[in-house]
Amino acid sequence: MADQKPDFSDIPSLDRLLQAPAVIALVESHGRSATVTALRTAFDTVRAAVAAGDEVDLTEEAFAQTIAARLEREATPGLRRVFNLTGTVLHTNLGRAPLAEAAITAMADAARGASNLEFDLETGKRGDRDVHVEELLCELTGAEAATVVNNNAGAVLLLLNALALRKEVPVSRGELVEIGGAFRIPDIMARAGAKLVEVGTTNRTHARDFETAISDRTALVMKVHTSNYVVQGFTADVAEDQLATIAHARDIPFAVDLGAGALVDLERWGLPHEPTPRETLAAGADIITFSGDKLLGGPQAGLIVGRADLIAKLKKNPLKRALRCDKATLAALAATLGLYRDPDRLDEHLPTLRLLARKPADIHALADSLIEELRAAVGEACTVSVEDCAGQIGSGALPVESLDSTALVIRPVASRGQGAKLKQLATSLRALPVPVIGRVHDDALWLDLRCLDDADGFRAQLNMLQTS
Ligand SMILES: *Cc1c(COP(=O)(O)O)cnc(C)c1O
Repeated sequence: MADQKPDFSDIPSLDRLLQAPAVIALVESHGRSATVTALRTAFDTVRAAVAAGDEVDLTEEAFAQTIAARLEREATPGLRRVFNLTGTVLHTNLGRAPLAEAAITAMADAARGASNLEFDLETGKRGDRDVHVEELLCELTGAEAATVVNNNAGAVLLLLNALALRKEVPVSRGELVEIGGAFRIPDIMARAGAKLVEVGTTNRTHARDFETAISDRTALVMKVHTSNYVVQGFTADVAEDQLATIAHARDIPFAVDLGAGALVDLERWGLPHEPTPRETLAAGADIITFSGDKLLGGPQAGLIVGRADLIAKLKKNPLKRALRCDKATLAALAATLGLYRDPDRLDEHLPTLRLLARKPADIHALADSLIEELRAAVGEACTVSVEDCAGQIGSGALPVESLDSTALVIRPVASRGQGAKLKQLATSLRALPVPVIGRVHDDALWLDLRCLDDADGFRAQLNMLQTS
């Protein structure tokens, strides 16, 4: 066959291929329908090659090999685990908080079968899905009542729609935030049907600005935590207790979008202070929203805590139904909140906190233990070194505070074509079975090891790295 160009009659039939042992094995693992579809596509390619007079291998094994790769690729889920070595712990594009084992187990249990999601086991009557987290949230924040929706953007939308529809909401001009992914306070306000009243200036807002902004059309005074930026220099803002006093003097509720929502004081683990819902409620806030998958370390959720009468209004709003959490989220959230009842061992059980509080010396030691393997994997064209670096908490939390960390730094040796080499290296790392995501900076590829939990899994990836 080698000296002779194949012709169409040499192409095996579909039936014959389906009886070949290698193809039978593929039908076993991928199913007949997917295998036949893959074979048909392979026929098209082969026929075109034969028509062009190209040499093609028409053996059954060759067909099986061609479609095996394709079937394998199609069977791999699009959403996959990756190694987050970007240095950003709560990376929104990489799924934010890794969940605690207790949360994962609870989620799987809830997913597997029926549960008492909205069923009162005592009375046998219909129940409320919020009960699975409400009591814990109240205990942990000191609030009277609580509810939960899909994410914090949803929580803010619901809060504004339920409490300020067609009414005014004054917010400081210094707090009209945009959070990545199209969450902007003015836009959410408009979509919720509330009217934003901008107060003060970008850098300075005073109590008297709020006093003059409040009218009989005001439904709510609102403060938004400027999660992802800071205003520095000649600045002034109105503290929460002051805003609460101003709002309450006119019998208007005071709402705070806290964003990151650390439930406990993070200073205990050597991290910068982030206001907690408990502190904010104590300062006079009537209702607060925050995320479940930022500093709290739980599943994606929008938590709302505060006055019982206000929470009741939110629960009655049709948007609450549209934005409600599913059973797996509620199970994971309840389990995560449960861990906060034992703050002494929180960093042992909550991966987010463990990663945030990881000691730089430990990260350094981890880097030292991996450098030789990385050197071997990237080959002669690059140098690898262990260097100190600055990571981030991420998700907009504490944007100016950095986390001292250590990275494995890969630098191309040749200065010509350095950019292309780096790009190719990053692409190869992303192409691994468990993709490795680093950060290109300063003509080097940085692999910040703060979030590397599974060193053996990472080593296994390095052994598969193809860099040429
Ligand atoms: C992150 C954040 C949001 C959006 O929260 P999601 O849970 O991502 O929807 C809203 N407001 C503030 C202040 C935030 O930091």
